[in-house]
Amino acid sequence: MHDSAYHKILNPVLRDWIHTGIEKGPEFYSTPVGILACQRDPLLRTLDATVVFSVLSSPPPPAKGKNTKKAVLAPTIPLDAVCIEVCLNDTVIFPEGGGQPTDNGQITTPDGTVWNVLQAKRHGGQAIHYVHVQDGNVDRALQSFCPGAHVKVELDRAGFDRRYDHMTLHTSQHLLSALLETRLNLPTLSWSLTSYPSPCYVEIPRGMTVEEISMIQEEANRLVFEGRPIHVEVDVLDPTTTKTVEKTESGRAIGRGLPEDYTGGVHRVVHINGVDVNPCCGTHLPSLNNLQLFILPHTDALSRSSTTVARLSFLAGPRLITYLTSTHNYLTSTAAILSCGTPQVPERVQQVVDDRKSATRRIEDVEFELARYIAADLCRDMQGGDGLFKKHVHRTDDSATALTFLTAISSAFSDTVAKSGTETPYLVVLSSSPSAQLPTNTNVVFILGSDAKRVKEAGDGLKAKLAVKGGGKGSKWSGKSQGMWKAEKDNTVVEEILSSIV
Ligand SMILES: [Zn+2]
Repeated sequence: MHDSAYHKILNPVLRDWIHTGIEKGPEFYSTPVGILACQRDPLLRTLDATVVFSVLSSPPPPAKGKNTKKAVLAPTIPLDAVCIEVCLNDTVIFPEGGGQPTDNGQITTPDGTVWNVLQAKRHGGQAIHYVHVQDGNVDRALQSFCPGAHVKVELDRAGFDRRYDHMTLHTSQHLLSALLETRLNLPTLSWSLTSYPSPCYVEIPRGMTVEEISMIQEEANRLVFEGRPIHVEVDVLDPTTTKTVEKTESGRAIGRGLPEDYTGGVHRVVHINGVDVNPCCGTHLPSLNNLQLFILPHTDALSRSSTTVARLSFLAGPRLITYLTSTHNYLTSTAAILSCGTPQVPERVQQVVDDRKSATRRIEDVEFELARYIAADLCRDMQGGDGLFKKHVHRTDDSATALTFLTAISSAFSDTVAKSGTETPYLVVLSSSPSAQLPTNTNVVFILGSDAKRVKEAGDGLKAKLAVKGGGKGSKWSGKSQGMWKAEKDNTVVEEILSSIV
């Protein structure tokens, strides 16, 4: 089937370019990319084919530069995988192009062996299958794929599901870009068919308002419900009238035109009835049926050097269902945690956040108050003493901000001492450790004193004897240690350090 309501051949010459593989050897010919079986009938899953040639695959060159785009999902061939490159007379496995990634499929050779096709690529005008040689026996593989061998090429269930996902999103992108262009005069600068199941996106020159987004979405879905038919028209490429396309920085061809390395000679145009006419090599569904389009109701502004573009994310088909299922699951499990209905989730989450903020404020207030009491206790101890007042206070505290609390005690103590007008010299070590005895614990220490030299001496002692890492300035020193704080042993060490200082 070369011609159909879906696939219209405008120039009869093209009929001779579709090679059925029944030509008598020794020469076999391949059908050019542009009129491959997968492009003539995107729902076809199996095809009897003939091998045109096969060669040992040289490993792909390492990717240039840093690829920061998580965009196009080109399944990469593992470095240690042995592959042969196979060209068939025709194929149902789509080679990557037009922003649409390669298919994965299988080829069955006459002896019944099923070979995995890890990737298909367009070389000039030919579709090349990267066939995995699992046992590494390249000679046997090349023999199985000798020119003229009759094989079966197919997309299995997983391969077709993957292709179907790509088709729904690619066709949706044509629909979306056409509406953005005709309704809002927004050209599509690039688009990305992201890895399943992330939303895909188009890049446009500016952000869109909520009203614009809902207008475009409504319009798209009106056309989907109508089930507008889609068809493809192919003609012989006239290089004098066809522009080559500009490429984005990632090398993906966008917009209306052809990649400059294309030598297939086919000019292929995808029509969405009454909506869009666009040159494209991708596989497209025969109608907009079941293609319900969902636009994520926000646009991300992206700044790239001098130009600013906005990214509009969208979903359609099975990927949309997957997305809605997972987001719905997140929502219902969050609602269950909050013991409320899903519509109340935002309000309840807001309440939890507000409660948490005020609880944190209250803890700070209470800590501040408690710090003054602890400081007052220390001052009472200091009164009536003779000479240098030395004291260690250890606390158990599971707070992530235990050091802040020790600092608060220190400030309150300094204030009280200053107010009392006492001249008694002092050296106080405050320490704090979590309640659970775990080797991953972080313990904190704070030293304050009336004399910088003694403070430094105590700090040096803690560094040497308790492996505390820290430092200080003047009358204050703070540090941290890792591991369990053994109350009896470690507190004794602190006492010893203090008693050695005079
Ligand atoms: Zn396209």
